[in-house]
Amino acid sequence: MQHPVRRSLLALVLALPFAAASAEPRIFDAHLHYRPAVAEHFGISDVARTLASNEVRGAIVMSPEDNLIRRLKAGTDTRIVPFLEVSQRLGKKMDWMHVEDLGERIARMLDDSEVKWHGLGEFHILADDRFGPGLEQLLDLAVARDLTIMIHGDPAVIDHAYATHPEVRILWAHAGSYAYPPLVQDYLERHPRMNMDLSMRNPRINPEGQIDDDWFELFLTHPDRFMIGVDTFTATRWAQYTRLKDETRAWLAQLPEDVARAIAFENGERLFPAQ
Ligand SMILES: [Zn+2]
Repeated sequence: MQHPVRRSLLALVLALPFAAASAEPRIFDAHLHYRPAVAEHFGISDVARTLASNEVRGAIVMSPEDNLIRRLKAGTDTRIVPFLEVSQRLGKKMDWMHVEDLGERIARMLDDSEVKWHGLGEFHILADDRFGPGLEQLLDLAVARDLTIMIHGDPAVIDHAYATHPEVRILWAHAGSYAYPPLVQDYLERHPRMNMDLSMRNPRINPEGQIDDDWFELFLTHPDRFMIGVDTFTATRWAQYTRLKDETRAWLAQLPEDVARAIAFENGERLFPAQ
C-alpha cells in the first residue's frame, strides 16, 4: 500500500509544472527598444535569457539597425516584430517631422534593408509640430506600405493623423501623453484603427497596489485595444525587466482572466500575427 504522505507528495510534484505555468502566463511585449549603445552592455544572450524567463513569446522591438534585429531573431526564442527606429537613426528625436525629404529617406532605408519591418517608430511629437512635412510623408508611407506607426505624442497629433489618413494604423505609446481613462476611451472609440501600449503606466493604473476603478472599467469595455510593454530604452531598464513586468502583472492579476490574457498576450498576437 502506498503511504498517504508519499502519495500527496507525488501529487504535489505532478502539479508543480502546471502551477508554474499559470503563475507566469505568456506575454506579448509591445514596447521594447534595442539599440547599439544598449547592446554593448546588455547582449543578445542577456536579452534572450530575460525574455525567456519572463515568458515573453512575442515582442515589438524597435531598433535602428538591421544587424541587431537579425541577431535577435537568431538568438532568441521570442517572436520578434521589428519596427524601424528612424528618428534614432537620423539623430532627431524631437524634430524629425521637419526633415523635408523624410518620406524618401525612410523609403530608401526600407528598400535597402534585408529585414521585413512591420512598423516604424517610436516617433516623439508635440501638438505644435503636427503640421510638419515629415509627419504627412510618414503617414503616406505607412499607408502605402501597410506599416504600423508607434507615436509617442499629444492627442492633437492623433486627431490630425486620422483626419488626413483615416486608414493608417497607429500604436499610441503609453496610452498617450494624457493617459486619463475618459480621454483614452474617447480616442479609442473615435479612432478604431488605433491601439495602445500601456508601458510606463503601472503607477497610474495600479496606485498603492490596487487597480484604479476607471482603468478597470476601461479595460473591461475595450479589452481588445490594449497591450502591455516594458519600454527598454536603456540597458538599466533591460536589467530591471523582471521587476517592471511584475509591476504590470500585479494589476493584470486583478482583471478577469480573459481580459488579462487579451491585454498580456492575445491582442499582440492578433494585431501582429506571425507571417
Ligand atoms: Zn519607448
